[in-house]
Amino acid sequence: MRVFIAGLGTETNMFVPFPTGRRGYEEFGVFRGDATRHPPRSFSGPLHVWRRRAEERGHQVIEGLLTFAAPSGTTVRSVYEGYRDEILAGVRAALPLDMVLLNMHGAMVAEGYDDCEGDLLARVRAIVGPKTVIGGELDLHCHISQQIIESADVLVTYKEYPHTDPMERAEEVFTLCADAAEGKVKPVMARYDCRMIGHYRPPVEPIKSFVDRIRALEGKDGILSVSFGHGFSFADVEDVGTRMLVVADGDKAKAAALAEKLGRELFAMRDIAVSKFLTPAEALDRVASHNKGPVIIADRADNAGSGAPGDSTFVLRALLDRGVGPALFGIVWDPLCFQIAEEAGVGATLDLRIGGKCGKTSGDPVDLRVTVKNIVRGAHQTYGPVKSPLGDMVWLSAGDVDVVVNTLRTQLFHPDAFEALGIDPTSYRIVVVKSAQHFYNGFAPIAAEVLYVATPGAANPDYVNLPYTKRKTPFWPKVADPFA
Ligand SMILES: [Zn+2]
Repeated sequence: MRVFIAGLGTETNMFVPFPTGRRGYEEFGVFRGDATRHPPRSFSGPLHVWRRRAEERGHQVIEGLLTFAAPSGTTVRSVYEGYRDEILAGVRAALPLDMVLLNMHGAMVAEGYDDCEGDLLARVRAIVGPKTVIGGELDLHCHISQQIIESADVLVTYKEYPHTDPMERAEEVFTLCADAAEGKVKPVMARYDCRMIGHYRPPVEPIKSFVDRIRALEGKDGILSVSFGHGFSFADVEDVGTRMLVVADGDKAKAAALAEKLGRELFAMRDIAVSKFLTPAEALDRVASHNKGPVIIADRADNAGSGAPGDSTFVLRALLDRGVGPALFGIVWDPLCFQIAEEAGVGATLDLRIGGKCGKTSGDPVDLRVTVKNIVRGAHQTYGPVKSPLGDMVWLSAGDVDVVVNTLRTQLFHPDAFEALGIDPTSYRIVVVKSAQHFYNGFAPIAAEVLYVATPGAANPDYVNLPYTKRKTPFWPKVADPFA
Protein backbone atom coordinates (compact mmCIF):
# COMPACT_ATOMS: atom_id res chain seq x y z
CA MET A 1 0.00 0.00 0.00
CA ARG A 2 1.05 3.56 -0.65
CA VAL A 3 0.39 6.12 2.09
CA PHE A 4 0.82 9.89 1.72
CA ILE A 5 1.23 11.95 4.93
CA ALA A 6 1.37 15.74 5.33
CA GLY A 7 0.20 18.55 7.59
CA LEU A 8 -0.88 22.17 7.40
CA GLY A 9 -2.42 24.09 10.25
CA THR A 10 -3.05 27.15 12.29
CA GLU A 11 -5.93 28.45 14.41
CA THR A 12 -7.18 31.73 13.00
CA ASN A 13 -8.51 34.43 15.32
CA MET A 14 -10.27 36.78 12.93
CA PHE A 15 -10.67 39.40 15.65
CA VAL A 16 -6.96 40.18 16.12
CA PRO A 17 -5.51 43.14 14.28
CA PHE A 18 -2.65 41.35 12.50
CA PRO A 19 -2.35 38.74 9.72
CA THR A 20 -0.45 35.45 9.67
CA GLY A 21 2.18 35.52 6.96
CA ARG A 22 5.01 33.25 5.89
CA ARG A 23 7.06 34.11 8.96
CA GLY A 24 4.38 32.71 11.26
CA TYR A 25 4.85 29.28 9.66
CA GLU A 26 8.62 29.53 9.37
CA GLU A 27 8.87 30.15 13.12
CA PHE A 28 7.56 26.62 13.66
CA GLY A 29 9.41 25.27 10.65
CA VAL A 30 8.43 24.35 7.11
CA PHE A 31 9.30 20.69 6.57
CA ARG A 32 9.30 19.55 2.97
CA GLY A 33 9.01 15.81 3.31
CA ASP A 34 11.31 15.49 6.31
CA ALA A 35 9.21 16.34 9.39
CA THR A 36 9.53 12.74 10.61
CA ARG A 37 13.32 12.89 10.36
CA HIS A 38 13.22 15.49 13.18
CA PRO A 39 12.14 14.79 16.77
CA PRO A 40 8.32 14.82 17.14
CA ARG A 41 6.85 18.18 18.16
CA SER A 42 3.26 19.13 18.88
CA PHE A 43 2.00 19.40 15.31
CA SER A 44 4.40 16.93 13.70
CA GLY A 45 3.71 14.17 16.24
CA PRO A 46 0.86 12.53 14.32
CA LEU A 47 3.05 12.12 11.22
CA HIS A 48 5.57 10.19 13.28
CA VAL A 49 2.77 7.88 14.42
CA TRP A 50 1.48 7.41 10.87
CA ARG A 51 4.92 6.66 9.43
CA ARG A 52 5.68 4.13 12.14
CA ARG A 53 2.32 2.39 11.82
CA ALA A 54 2.49 2.28 8.03
CA GLU A 55 6.05 0.94 7.97
CA GLU A 56 5.19 -1.72 10.57
CA ARG A 57 2.62 -2.99 8.08
CA GLY A 58 5.14 -2.90 5.24
CA HIS A 59 3.45 0.03 3.49
CA GLN A 60 5.33 2.63 1.48
CA VAL A 61 5.20 6.14 3.00
CA ILE A 62 5.44 9.27 0.88
CA GLU A 63 5.79 12.37 3.05
CA GLY A 64 4.72 15.81 1.91
CA LEU A 65 4.91 19.28 3.39
CA LEU A 66 4.25 19.95 7.07
CA THR A 67 4.01 23.36 8.63
CA PHE A 68 2.09 25.11 11.38
CA ALA A 69 1.71 28.69 12.55
CA ALA A 70 1.00 29.71 16.14
CA PRO A 71 -2.61 30.94 16.45
CA SER A 72 -2.95 34.46 15.11
CA GLY A 73 -4.87 36.49 12.52
CA THR A 74 -6.10 35.49 9.06
CA THR A 75 -3.47 33.80 6.90
CA VAL A 76 -2.30 35.77 3.87
CA ARG A 77 -3.88 34.29 0.73
CA SER A 78 -0.69 33.62 -1.21
CA VAL A 79 0.88 31.94 1.82
CA TYR A 80 -2.02 29.50 2.23
CA GLU A 81 -2.25 28.80 -1.48
CA GLY A 82 1.51 28.24 -1.69
CA TYR A 83 1.64 25.63 1.08
CA ARG A 84 -1.62 24.02 -0.07
CA ASP A 85 -0.36 23.69 -3.62
CA GLU A 86 2.89 22.12 -2.41
CA ILE A 87 0.87 19.45 -0.59
CA LEU A 88 -1.33 18.89 -3.66
CA ALA A 89 1.70 18.62 -5.94
CA GLY A 90 3.09 16.01 -3.54
CA VAL A 91 -0.16 14.04 -3.69
CA ARG A 92 -0.21 14.20 -7.49
CA ALA A 93 3.40 13.06 -7.76
CA ALA A 94 2.76 10.16 -5.35
CA LEU A 95 -0.17 8.63 -7.24
CA PRO A 96 -1.48 5.96 -7.11
CA LEU A 97 -2.28 6.19 -3.40
CA ASP A 98 -4.26 3.96 -1.06
CA MET A 99 -4.34 6.43 1.82
CA VAL A 100 -3.84 10.15 2.38
CA LEU A 101 -3.45 11.18 6.04
CA LEU A 102 -3.43 14.88 6.87
CA ASN A 103 -2.78 16.60 10.17
CA MET A 104 -4.73 19.86 10.29
CA HIS A 105 -5.98 22.20 12.97
CA GLY A 106 -9.49 22.65 11.67
CA ALA A 107 -9.86 26.38 12.29
CA MET A 108 -7.60 27.81 9.60
CA VAL A 109 -8.92 30.82 7.72
CA ALA A 110 -7.07 32.54 4.87
CA GLU A 111 -8.00 35.55 2.80
CA GLY A 112 -10.69 34.24 0.44
CA TYR A 113 -10.95 30.88 2.27
CA ASP A 114 -13.20 30.61 5.34
CA ASP A 115 -12.65 26.85 5.42
CA CYS A 116 -9.06 26.06 4.46
CA GLU A 117 -9.33 22.44 5.57
CA GLY A 118 -12.46 21.96 3.45
CA ASP A 119 -10.69 23.50 0.49
CA LEU A 120 -7.59 21.36 0.97
CA LEU A 121 -9.49 18.11 1.49
CA ALA A 122 -11.78 18.72 -1.51
CA ARG A 123 -8.76 19.32 -3.75
CA VAL A 124 -7.04 16.19 -2.45
CA ARG A 125 -10.20 14.20 -3.17
CA ALA A 126 -10.36 15.60 -6.70
CA ILE A 127 -6.80 14.39 -7.32
CA VAL A 128 -6.95 10.93 -5.73
CA GLY A 129 -10.51 9.99 -6.73
CA PRO A 130 -13.21 8.29 -4.67
CA LYS A 131 -11.42 5.03 -3.80
CA THR A 132 -8.39 6.40 -1.91
CA VAL A 133 -9.03 6.65 1.83
CA ILE A 134 -8.59 10.20 3.14
CA GLY A 135 -8.15 10.63 6.88
CA GLY A 136 -7.54 13.71 8.97
CA GLU A 137 -6.76 14.66 12.54
CA LEU A 138 -8.12 17.92 13.95
CA ASP A 139 -7.78 19.97 17.12
CA LEU A 140 -11.08 20.01 19.01
CA HIS A 141 -11.13 23.79 18.52
CA CYS A 142 -12.22 23.36 14.92
CA HIS A 143 -15.01 24.26 12.54
CA ILE A 144 -16.63 20.99 11.47
CA SER A 145 -17.91 22.00 8.05
CA GLN A 146 -19.99 20.01 5.60
CA GLN A 147 -17.13 20.23 3.13
CA ILE A 148 -14.58 18.48 5.35
CA ILE A 149 -17.10 15.70 6.03
CA GLU A 150 -17.91 15.25 2.36
CA SER A 151 -14.28 15.26 1.27
CA ALA A 152 -12.71 12.92 3.84
CA ASP A 153 -13.51 9.35 4.93
CA VAL A 154 -12.34 9.61 8.53
CA LEU A 155 -11.93 12.71 10.71
CA VAL A 156 -11.01 12.53 14.38
CA THR A 157 -10.61 15.45 16.79
CA TYR A 158 -8.65 15.54 20.03
CA LYS A 159 -10.72 14.67 23.11
CA GLU A 160 -8.63 16.37 25.78
CA TYR A 161 -8.03 20.04 26.59
CA PRO A 162 -5.22 20.63 27.61
CA HIS A 163 -4.45 18.70 24.42
CA THR A 164 -2.68 15.65 25.81
CA ASP A 165 -3.94 13.15 23.25
CA PRO A 166 -2.91 14.03 19.66
CA MET A 167 -0.71 10.92 19.46
CA GLU A 168 -3.50 8.61 20.63
CA ARG A 169 -5.90 10.17 18.15
CA ALA A 170 -3.29 9.73 15.40
CA GLU A 171 -3.20 6.01 16.20
CA GLU A 172 -6.98 5.88 15.76
CA VAL A 173 -6.90 7.78 12.48
CA PHE A 174 -4.36 5.31 11.17
CA THR A 175 -6.20 2.22 12.36
CA LEU A 176 -9.54 3.36 10.95
CA CYS A 177 -8.06 4.42 7.61
CA ALA A 178 -5.95 1.29 7.21
CA ASP A 179 -8.95 -0.88 8.04
CA ALA A 180 -10.97 1.06 5.46
CA ALA A 181 -8.24 0.70 2.83
CA GLU A 182 -8.18 -3.06 3.48
CA GLY A 183 -11.96 -3.22 3.14
CA LYS A 184 -12.55 -4.25 6.76
CA VAL A 185 -14.73 -1.20 7.53
CA LYS A 186 -16.66 1.37 5.51
CA PRO A 187 -16.42 4.65 7.41
CA VAL A 188 -19.22 7.16 6.92
CA MET A 189 -19.53 10.43 8.83
CA ALA A 190 -22.25 12.72 10.15
CA ARG A 191 -22.10 15.94 12.13
CA TYR A 192 -24.57 17.67 14.41
CA ASP A 193 -24.79 21.37 15.17
CA CYS A 194 -25.27 21.69 18.94
CA ARG A 195 -26.32 25.32 18.44
CA MET A 196 -23.95 26.41 21.17
CA ILE A 197 -20.80 28.47 21.35
CA GLY A 198 -18.81 27.97 24.52
CA HIS A 199 -15.57 27.13 26.26
CA TYR A 200 -15.45 23.61 27.72
CA ARG A 201 -13.02 22.00 30.16
CA PRO A 202 -12.64 18.20 29.89
CA PRO A 203 -10.62 17.83 33.14
CA VAL A 204 -13.66 18.89 35.21
CA GLU A 205 -17.31 17.84 35.46
CA PRO A 206 -19.67 17.58 33.72
CA ILE A 207 -17.48 17.53 30.59
CA LYS A 208 -15.14 14.93 32.09
CA SER A 209 -17.94 12.34 32.30
CA PHE A 210 -19.36 13.39 28.95
CA VAL A 211 -16.01 12.71 27.24
CA ASP A 212 -15.71 9.39 29.11
CA ARG A 213 -19.14 8.39 27.79
CA ILE A 214 -18.17 9.32 24.24
CA ARG A 215 -15.03 7.23 24.51
CA ALA A 216 -17.02 4.26 25.76
CA LEU A 217 -19.26 4.34 22.67
CA GLU A 218 -16.36 3.79 20.29
CA GLY A 219 -15.52 0.42 18.82
CA LYS A 220 -18.92 -1.16 19.36
CA ASP A 221 -22.35 -1.34 17.72
CA GLY A 222 -20.93 -0.09 14.43
CA ILE A 223 -19.61 3.18 15.89
CA LEU A 224 -15.99 3.71 14.88
CA SER A 225 -15.22 7.13 16.36
CA VAL A 226 -16.94 9.99 18.16
CA SER A 227 -15.59 13.53 18.29
CA PHE A 228 -16.79 16.46 20.36
CA GLY A 229 -15.74 19.51 18.39
CA HIS A 230 -15.74 22.32 20.93
CA GLY A 231 -15.36 24.78 18.05
CA PHE A 232 -13.13 27.83 17.84
CA SER A 233 -15.17 30.88 18.77
CA PHE A 234 -13.01 33.72 17.47
CA ALA A 235 -13.84 33.37 13.81
CA ASP A 236 -16.59 34.87 11.73
CA VAL A 237 -17.28 31.82 9.59
CA GLU A 238 -20.48 29.94 8.81
CA ASP A 239 -19.43 26.86 10.76
CA VAL A 240 -18.36 28.57 13.98
CA GLY A 241 -19.72 26.70 17.00
CA THR A 242 -19.88 23.37 18.81
CA ARG A 243 -20.52 20.21 16.81
CA MET A 244 -20.59 16.46 17.29
CA LEU A 245 -18.96 14.29 14.67
CA VAL A 246 -19.57 10.55 14.46
CA VAL A 247 -17.87 8.00 12.21
CA ALA A 248 -19.95 4.84 11.78
CA ASP A 249 -19.32 1.64 9.86
CA GLY A 250 -21.42 1.89 6.71
CA ASP A 251 -24.52 3.33 8.38
CA LYS A 252 -24.82 7.07 7.92
CA ALA A 253 -28.22 7.26 9.61
CA LYS A 254 -26.74 5.64 12.70
CA ALA A 255 -23.89 8.17 12.72
CA ALA A 256 -26.34 11.05 12.38
CA ALA A 257 -28.64 9.72 15.11
CA LEU A 258 -25.81 9.34 17.63
CA ALA A 259 -24.36 12.75 16.76
CA GLU A 260 -27.76 14.30 17.41
CA LYS A 261 -28.32 12.37 20.63
CA LEU A 262 -24.96 13.46 22.06
CA GLY A 263 -25.38 17.02 20.81
CA ARG A 264 -28.77 17.26 22.52
CA GLU A 265 -27.29 15.81 25.70
CA LEU A 266 -24.61 18.49 25.72
CA PHE A 267 -27.17 21.19 25.01
CA ALA A 268 -29.35 19.99 27.87
CA MET A 269 -26.51 20.57 30.34
CA ARG A 270 -25.35 23.82 28.73
CA ASP A 271 -25.61 25.89 31.90
CA ILE A 272 -23.09 23.74 33.74
CA ALA A 273 -21.10 22.58 30.69
CA VAL A 274 -19.46 25.88 29.81
CA SER A 275 -16.79 27.77 31.70
CA LYS A 276 -17.92 30.75 33.75
CA PHE A 277 -15.86 33.90 33.49
CA LEU A 278 -15.44 36.59 36.14
CA THR A 279 -14.48 40.22 35.67
CA PRO A 280 -11.00 41.05 37.00
CA ALA A 281 -12.65 42.90 39.91
CA GLU A 282 -14.78 39.87 40.81
CA ALA A 283 -11.72 37.62 40.69
CA LEU A 284 -9.76 39.93 42.99
CA ASP A 285 -12.71 40.03 45.40
CA ARG A 286 -12.61 36.28 45.50
CA VAL A 287 -8.88 36.24 46.32
CA ALA A 288 -9.79 37.77 49.67
CA SER A 289 -11.57 34.52 50.63
CA HIS A 290 -8.26 32.62 50.61
CA ASN A 291 -5.68 33.03 53.33
CA LYS A 292 -3.21 30.90 51.43
CA GLY A 293 -2.09 31.36 47.83
CA PRO A 294 -1.61 31.26 45.07
CA VAL A 295 -4.95 31.87 43.43
CA ILE A 296 -4.41 31.27 39.72
CA ILE A 297 -6.25 33.75 37.51
CA ALA A 298 -6.44 32.77 33.85
CA ASP A 299 -6.40 35.80 31.56
CA ARG A 300 -8.45 33.93 28.99
CA ALA A 301 -9.04 36.84 26.62
CA ASP A 302 -5.33 37.42 26.05
CA ASN A 303 -4.40 33.79 25.41
CA ALA A 304 -1.84 33.72 22.62
CA GLY A 305 -2.98 30.13 22.06
CA SER A 306 -6.30 31.57 20.88
CA GLY A 307 -4.49 34.02 18.62
CA ALA A 308 -4.54 36.97 21.02
CA PRO A 309 -1.42 39.18 21.14
CA GLY A 310 -0.37 38.31 24.70
CA ASP A 311 0.34 41.90 25.70
CA SER A 312 -2.99 43.07 27.12
CA THR A 313 -2.91 45.02 30.35
CA PHE A 314 -6.51 44.89 31.62
CA VAL A 315 -5.77 42.47 34.45
CA LEU A 316 -2.43 44.10 35.28
CA ARG A 317 -4.20 47.45 35.61
CA ALA A 318 -6.76 45.88 37.94
CA LEU A 319 -4.00 44.34 40.10
CA LEU A 320 -2.17 47.65 40.42
CA ASP A 321 -5.34 49.61 41.16
CA ARG A 322 -6.51 47.13 43.79
CA GLY A 323 -3.12 46.80 45.47
CA VAL A 324 -3.57 43.14 46.43
CA GLY A 325 -0.34 41.29 46.34
CA PRO A 326 2.12 39.86 46.15
CA ALA A 327 1.10 39.13 42.57
CA LEU A 328 2.88 37.60 39.59
CA PHE A 329 1.71 38.51 36.08
CA GLY A 330 2.81 36.87 32.84
CA ILE A 331 3.86 36.18 30.32
CA VAL A 332 3.60 39.49 28.48
CA TRP A 333 4.79 39.43 24.86
CA ASP A 334 6.73 42.67 24.55
CA PRO A 335 10.08 42.38 22.74
CA LEU A 336 10.69 46.14 22.94
CA CYS A 337 10.24 46.12 26.69
CA PHE A 338 12.61 43.15 26.95
CA GLN A 339 15.24 44.96 24.89
CA ILE A 340 15.17 48.06 27.08
CA ALA A 341 15.29 46.01 30.28
CA GLU A 342 18.19 43.96 28.95
CA GLU A 343 20.10 47.12 28.07
CA ALA A 344 19.59 48.37 31.62
CA GLY A 345 20.79 45.04 33.02
CA VAL A 346 19.98 42.89 36.04
CA GLY A 347 19.73 45.01 39.18
CA ALA A 348 18.86 48.22 37.35
CA THR A 349 15.80 50.27 38.27
CA LEU A 350 14.10 52.18 35.46
CA ASP A 351 10.79 53.45 34.10
CA LEU A 352 9.29 50.99 31.63
CA ARG A 353 6.20 51.04 29.44
CA ILE A 354 4.77 47.51 29.53
CA GLY A 355 2.30 45.88 27.09
CA GLY A 356 -0.67 47.50 25.41
CA LYS A 357 1.16 47.79 22.10
CA CYS A 358 -0.84 45.69 19.62
CA GLY A 359 -4.12 47.57 19.31
CA LYS A 360 -7.36 48.20 21.16
CA THR A 361 -7.66 44.60 22.35
CA SER A 362 -4.35 45.04 24.21
CA GLY A 363 -5.62 47.89 26.41
CA ASP A 364 -3.44 50.85 27.37
CA PRO A 365 0.27 50.43 28.02
CA VAL A 366 1.20 50.49 31.70
CA ASP A 367 4.03 52.73 32.88
CA LEU A 368 5.85 51.32 35.88
CA ARG A 369 9.04 51.94 37.79
CA VAL A 370 10.61 48.49 37.84
CA THR A 371 13.70 46.69 38.99
CA VAL A 372 15.19 44.11 36.61
CA LYS A 373 15.43 40.99 38.77
CA ASN A 374 16.68 38.45 36.24
CA ILE A 375 17.04 37.71 32.53
CA VAL A 376 17.23 34.39 30.69
CA ARG A 377 17.82 33.84 27.00
CA GLY A 378 16.36 30.97 24.99
CA ALA A 379 14.08 29.70 27.76
CA HIS A 380 11.67 26.76 27.47
CA GLN A 381 8.58 25.55 29.31
CA THR A 382 6.97 22.16 29.66
CA TYR A 383 4.06 21.46 27.32
CA GLY A 384 2.89 17.88 27.74
CA PRO A 385 5.80 15.61 26.79
CA VAL A 386 7.80 18.35 25.02
CA LYS A 387 9.70 21.54 25.86
CA SER A 388 8.17 24.55 24.16
CA PRO A 389 10.27 27.65 23.38
CA LEU A 390 9.66 30.93 25.21
CA GLY A 391 12.32 33.12 23.63
CA ASP A 392 14.11 35.52 25.98
CA MET A 393 12.51 36.49 29.28
CA VAL A 394 12.91 39.17 31.90
CA TRP A 395 11.59 39.30 35.47
CA LEU A 396 10.54 42.82 36.42
CA SER A 397 9.53 43.79 39.93
CA ALA A 398 7.29 46.77 40.65
CA GLY A 399 6.85 46.53 44.42
CA ASP A 400 4.03 44.14 45.14
CA VAL A 401 3.53 43.13 41.49
CA ASP A 402 6.08 41.16 39.50
CA VAL A 403 5.76 41.01 35.71
CA VAL A 404 7.43 38.53 33.35
CA VAL A 405 7.97 39.75 29.80
CA ASN A 406 9.22 37.68 26.86
CA THR A 407 10.13 37.99 23.20
CA LEU A 408 8.32 35.01 21.63
CA ARG A 409 4.53 35.18 21.43
CA THR A 410 3.24 32.09 23.19
CA GLN A 411 0.81 31.22 25.94
CA LEU A 412 1.92 30.15 29.40
CA PHE A 413 1.78 26.38 29.83
CA HIS A 414 3.66 25.52 33.00
CA PRO A 415 5.12 26.95 36.23
CA ASP A 416 8.61 26.05 35.01
CA ALA A 417 8.39 29.06 32.68
CA PHE A 418 8.58 31.24 35.80
CA GLU A 419 11.03 28.93 37.55
CA ALA A 420 13.49 29.41 34.66
CA LEU A 421 13.92 32.98 35.94
CA GLY A 422 14.32 31.87 39.55
CA ILE A 423 10.72 32.77 40.43
CA ASP A 424 8.79 30.56 42.84
CA PRO A 425 5.14 30.97 41.78
CA THR A 426 3.92 29.38 45.04
CA SER A 427 5.30 32.35 46.99
CA TYR A 428 2.66 34.70 45.53
CA ARG A 429 -0.89 35.33 46.62
CA ILE A 430 -2.03 35.74 43.01
CA VAL A 431 -0.56 34.37 39.79
CA VAL A 432 -2.11 35.68 36.57
CA VAL A 433 -1.48 33.36 33.62
CA LYS A 434 -2.07 34.38 30.03
CA SER A 435 -3.69 31.15 28.90
CA ALA A 436 -7.21 29.79 28.44
CA GLN A 437 -6.77 26.22 29.66
CA HIS A 438 -3.41 24.72 28.67
CA PHE A 439 -1.92 26.09 31.91
CA TYR A 440 -4.29 23.91 33.90
CA ASN A 441 -2.39 20.62 34.27
CA GLY A 442 0.76 22.44 35.38
CA PHE A 443 -0.77 25.07 37.66
CA ALA A 444 -3.81 23.34 39.21
CA PRO A 445 -1.61 21.25 41.56
CA ILE A 446 -0.15 24.42 43.16
CA ALA A 447 -3.36 26.49 43.12
CA ALA A 448 -5.51 27.44 46.09
CA GLU A 449 -8.18 28.02 43.43
CA VAL A 450 -8.28 28.50 39.67
CA LEU A 451 -10.36 31.40 38.35
CA TYR A 452 -11.08 32.43 34.78
CA VAL A 453 -11.50 36.08 33.88
CA ALA A 454 -12.80 37.81 30.77
CA THR A 455 -11.58 41.18 29.55
CA PRO A 456 -11.96 43.09 26.25
CA GLY A 457 -8.94 41.19 24.84
CA ALA A 458 -8.80 39.60 21.39
CA ALA A 459 -10.10 36.28 22.72
CA ASN A 460 -12.87 37.73 24.86
CA PRO A 461 -15.38 34.94 25.54
CA ASP A 462 -18.29 37.33 25.14
CA TYR A 463 -20.05 35.09 22.60
CA VAL A 464 -23.27 37.09 22.75
CA ASN A 465 -21.57 40.21 21.43
CA LEU A 466 -18.87 38.86 19.13
CA PRO A 467 -19.47 40.22 15.61
CA TYR A 468 -20.53 37.02 13.86
CA THR A 469 -22.09 37.72 10.45
CA LYS A 470 -21.82 34.36 8.64
CA ARG A 471 -23.31 31.81 10.99
CA LYS A 472 -26.79 30.98 9.65
CA THR A 473 -28.41 29.17 12.58
CA PRO A 474 -29.10 30.73 16.00
CA PHE A 475 -26.99 29.68 18.97
CA TRP A 476 -27.02 29.70 22.75
CA PRO A 477 -26.15 31.87 24.69
CA LYS A 478 -27.13 34.52 22.16
CA VAL A 479 -30.68 33.13 22.18
CA ALA A 480 -32.22 31.16 25.02
CA ASP A 481 -33.63 28.36 22.83
CA PRO A 482 -31.89 28.15 19.43
CA PHE A 483 -33.98 25.09 18.52
CA ALA A 484 -37.30 26.94 18.89
ZN1 LIG B 1 -7.11 23.63 20.69
